[in-house]
Amino acid sequence: MMTEQALRMYFQMAGVDHGYGQVDARYSPFKEFKVQWQRGKGRADFQVSDYLDGAEDDVVRDFAYALMDRVTSGGGSDPYPPRLRQWMASPSFVHRNQSTYVRRSRNIRRTPEGERLDLREAYDRLEGMGLVKKDLEAYLTWTSQPNIRRVGYCSVLMKVIAISSALDQDDVPRFVSDYVLYHELLHLSSGMDPQAMRHGPEFRRMERMHPDWRDAEDWLRRIASRRM
Ligand SMILES: [Zn+2]
Repeated sequence: MMTEQALRMYFQMAGVDHGYGQVDARYSPFKEFKVQWQRGKGRADFQVSDYLDGAEDDVVRDFAYALMDRVTSGGGSDPYPPRLRQWMASPSFVHRNQSTYVRRSRNIRRTPEGERLDLREAYDRLEGMGLVKKDLEAYLTWTSQPNIRRVGYCSVLMKVIAISSALDQDDVPRFVSDYVLYHELLHLSSGMDPQAMRHGPEFRRMERMHPDWRDAEDWLRRIASRRM
């Protein structure tokens, strides 16, 4: 467990190496994993996502040095060193942080059971069709608000997927929410791959393995323009 004191120490060490005599670092309960900083002459203050507090010392040390590099070079360098990325993709990161992330998320119902449809059954259907492999850490929920444009959301980092409750309606066929869930599960299984995040050609190819993709996309366009 990384105490705030230890966090501060690593940032101060990295600061001294980069010519910053006064460095402070604190945890902050951001919803998403991120870091904010302010700097002045010879000083820098960091607010670091408290999702980091389960990390090993070397992960935090690498991160502190990478951030100081970024602060002094004014960007460009990768702020997420390999050991940090590795830890963020590990099961223990999800175990430790997923429930906190869910608690901090607004606009989710925190249940896969909708008025009409159950996302766990949708997941089973997709698995049965051979489209996905079950990820037991995935957290599925309907949204509270019936969003019509952004009908699905996936936090790859926290393995949380939310599907718009606008799709949990009597007049929307089941394959529409199944398809949106499939899309988000593709993000989940692609991890941090930047191609997948931008819906690259391979992602689109996979998406079209769903037998109802064309009809589902027609439905989503109709829902988005409210021509129901
Ligand atoms: Zn997407």
